[in-house]
Amino acid sequence: MQKTTSSISNNISFTRGVPALEALPTTLFSECLQAVLAGPDGKTVLQYGHNGGYVPLKQLLAEQYHVDVDQVLIGNGSLHLQDMLTAQLVQTGDVVFTEQPSYDRAIKTFRRRGAKVIGIPLALDGVDITALEEALARYTPRFMYIVPDFQNPAGVTTSREKRQALAQLAEKHGFYLVEDVPYRTLRYSGKTLPLLRELNPERTITVSSYSKLISPGIRVGYLIGPRDIVKPLIALAEDTTLAPVLPTQAAVLEFHKRGYFERNLESLKQLYAPRLQAMISAIKTYLPGIDFAEPEGGFFVSITLPQESNYQHLLQRAKEQGLLLTDGNGFFADHLNAQANQAHTGDRFVRLPFCALTPQEIEAGMQRLAELVRA
Ligand code: PMP
Repeated sequence: MQKTTSSISNNISFTRGVPALEALPTTLFSECLQAVLAGPDGKTVLQYGHNGGYVPLKQLLAEQYHVDVDQVLIGNGSLHLQDMLTAQLVQTGDVVFTEQPSYDRAIKTFRRRGAKVIGIPLALDGVDITALEEALARYTPRFMYIVPDFQNPAGVTTSREKRQALAQLAEKHGFYLVEDVPYRTLRYSGKTLPLLRELNPERTITVSSYSKLISPGIRVGYLIGPRDIVKPLIALAEDTTLAPVLPTQAAVLEFHKRGYFERNLESLKQLYAPRLQAMISAIKTYLPGIDFAEPEGGFFVSITLPQESNYQHLLQRAKEQGLLLTDGNGFFADHLNAQANQAHTGDRFVRLPFCALTPQEIEAGMQRLAELVRA
């Protein structure tokens, strides 16, 4: 294995999109947890609770999203809520649309619940609307899953025009938009665009989470939607998770009340923004000419390697040299639907999570990647 100089560890991992360890607010969060347990609600949060989640946090979210409290469900992270939602909405064989590429675990979740998942190509400004209209001529999906802000994996943000088109198409064809917005407030530059919910509240189910904003370990995510969707989901929670994890939900509320949320968000942005810049400039320096979405926030940048590259081979060689990459195919629903041995864009797709690496590690990793691509 090659040795690298300086303090950069030998392995550089561009695999999971996790928060930086130094960004996890151990002191602030433990203060909140202690305050909750020592406070008037201490015993309430240690008892079985009601299944929509910790009511005062539901109230705060209802205010933030301009909905009623009975439209909010708090659960064990947003992926779990998506799984519950899919169980409720999808019968085996129903069609679900995703952007292509899309978040791999969401694709897996939908498929596991029996959905036929169809990927609609994603352009640098959001899903290809013409391709979506063509797909809608053939199928009516139960829902379309979209990550409109700083998408995982591509880093793409859906433009205002495309958000409007999505809201209109959902209305015209009678399907739900499931918008997943865990990265939305991690915006390092530029202006926030409207949620799909703001454009079509009746047809939109919003899921989000504190995993990237406080900690993934606390497992606090939430879902906001029309009452006829949320009510049976609360009943489902009653029969499955039985009770919400009230201590961490209450501590999240305390985190907000003490002003720690804003303070923590600012420090996350200060930590991550230079990492994003380091990633963008490393791609431009070491892999010039490659087209990619330059995100204004979030955790991910992605690139598609030149046509002639053999990424499977590159993945293996990269590993031998201590550069860990993810196989891009998991992000492509069409790959999973396709015959074996068929060539796909996913074969050349490289997701590059940058938040948990220092600018020096990002630079070194991208230099290694570029050398491998050229080799
Ligand atoms: N959705 C997206 C787009 C994500 O990137 C992630 C985390 N990688 C999740 C959902 C899952 O988040 P949670 O920890 O809230 O389940």
